[in-house]
Amino acid sequence: MPDFSMATELFLNTPIVGPDKDRFLNEANPFESMMSRFDRAAQLLDLDPGIYQVLRHPEKQITVSVPVMMDSGEVRVFTGHRVLYNTSRGPAKGGIRFDMNVNLDEVTALAAWMTWKCAVVNLPFGGAKGGVVCDPLQMSVGELERLTRRYTAGIISVLGPDSDVPAPDVNTNERVMAWIMDTYSMHARHTVTSVVTGKPVEMGGSLGRREATGRGCTIVTRQALEHLGMNVVGATVAVQGFGNVGSVAAELLQREGARVVAISDRTGGVYNRDGVDIEGAIAWVRAHKTLEGFPGGEVLTNEDLLELEVDVLLPAALENVITSKNAGRVRAKVICEGANGPTTAAADEILDSNGIFVIPDILANAGGVTVSYFEWVQDRGGYFWSEDTVNERLRDIMTRSFQDVLALSRQHRVNMRTAAYMLSITRVAAVHRLRGIYA
Ligand code: NAD
Repeated sequence: MPDFSMATELFLNTPIVGPDKDRFLNEANPFESMMSRFDRAAQLLDLDPGIYQVLRHPEKQITVSVPVMMDSGEVRVFTGHRVLYNTSRGPAKGGIRFDMNVNLDEVTALAAWMTWKCAVVNLPFGGAKGGVVCDPLQMSVGELERLTRRYTAGIISVLGPDSDVPAPDVNTNERVMAWIMDTYSMHARHTVTSVVTGKPVEMGGSLGRREATGRGCTIVTRQALEHLGMNVVGATVAVQGFGNVGSVAAELLQREGARVVAISDRTGGVYNRDGVDIEGAIAWVRAHKTLEGFPGGEVLTNEDLLELEVDVLLPAALENVITSKNAGRVRAKVICEGANGPTTAAADEILDSNGIFVIPDILANAGGVTVSYFEWVQDRGGYFWSEDTVNERLRDIMTRSFQDVLALSRQHRVNMRTAAYMLSITRVAAVHRLRGIYA
């Protein structure tokens, strides 16, 4: 019998309200910024105008009112959205966030993003995203549970293992996924584990899911270094963001022989030219919540970290940290985008002209959704894999996807980001062509 005591402890102790991540919130127009990259790739592909029109529009946008009985006895009504952007390749897949800045434009942009990400690693999923406008920091656990259940009931007509499979996102976690799974199952009158991913391991979650995104970053970074004739052993690395993605990637890269010279979180960074003690930093954050005060090196700002002369820069915190203002000062040879959208479109061109090899987010951080796919497969099969099997299959998919994108970038003489969009659009468009447009 596997030992689930660690997972149970994590489940019970993990706060529902997570730190801020993946915030396109307040961005000028996230949909347009993503679509400008889509358009560039679509032009290069000479996409059929009909398919181009279909891919530029979300398939379904749902907005629901979510009445919640607050602890005070008062009923408050929240607004929730769920957007299914494209389901031509399979069930929609994408997270649910709870945040005051959630709006339909942003949810739509993130749903499109998920469509391209699933296609670039060739998962049989479409793309979706959801959110509820609320301030989870101001809500009790009971209020959040009632909000989650009523939102789930509101969008239940689209949810399902064959139609739409949510996952955690900003301010939602495995406990929220457990409530969604339970609510859906109560309505279905039987237990349906495969309706969400990112669940606790005890109730159908996958081993290796927590580490999957950081592990995926490590795999593609190694591929990129090999492609450039460099070795991961001795390569210098700077990691911005020391949460789930950044800390796992830093630990695994160090284990593979890289020298992680700088790490940071929202409180600032640490630099040590001999290599930061990553295990020590993880233990420090576990004890103190942040890196602040960690004695493993010199203090460094987040801005300075991005401009260090290193072999690999791994932004794994926020969006839009590499912009036209600082891109010219980035001196890394490889950028592995662990975060979603860390580089602006304007910065892309500067990095390109400086010969910096960028592994784009829709490829670099796709390890998470890949193991979510494994979770869905395991739930549907009712047969669970060992952690080694999960990691091995993740490695296969990430390696093959990196090579697919690299081949396309060479063939069309474009950078890795454009190639990744070209690959995913080609895959989604091909299915539309085969299925025919019901128009
Ligand atoms: P997390 O909340 O676990 O960690 C985020 C880290 O970023 C924390 O260390 C936090 O202190 C740091 N941070 C926050 N604000 C910062 C700032 N202003 N400057 C520097 N650091 C700052 O989040 P995560 O799950 O590791 O996600 C990080 C990024 O990766 C997000 O963009 C997320 O969307 C993306 N991502 C995550 C996954 C996943 O499976 N967790 C999958 C795909 C993409």
